[in-house]
Amino acid sequence: MIPFENTWPYERSGKDIYLHSCPYCGTESVLTSLGNDDLNRAKEGIKTYLIMPCCLEKMTIIEADEDYFWTTERLRK
Ligand SMILES: [Zn+2]
Repeated sequence: MIPFENTWPYERSGKDIYLHSCPYCGTESVLTSLGNDDLNRAKEGIKTYLIMPCCLEKMTIIEADEDYFWTTERLRK
């Protein structure tokens, strides 16, 4: 069971996937390199890596739902 502290919300706009803010450096409205195919794989529970374009930190996404990425690390304070 993944704790809720390990989640981070994302938003879709067309085929783009955004984060409201980067959990690592706080940059706002970060456009990720993920596409719908990546998101669909993540929703199937396939581990997906996301390199943040703002600070190059690596997020390891274990799975995704309609609102959140569920990751391997605590992102919420
Ligand atoms: Zn960042």
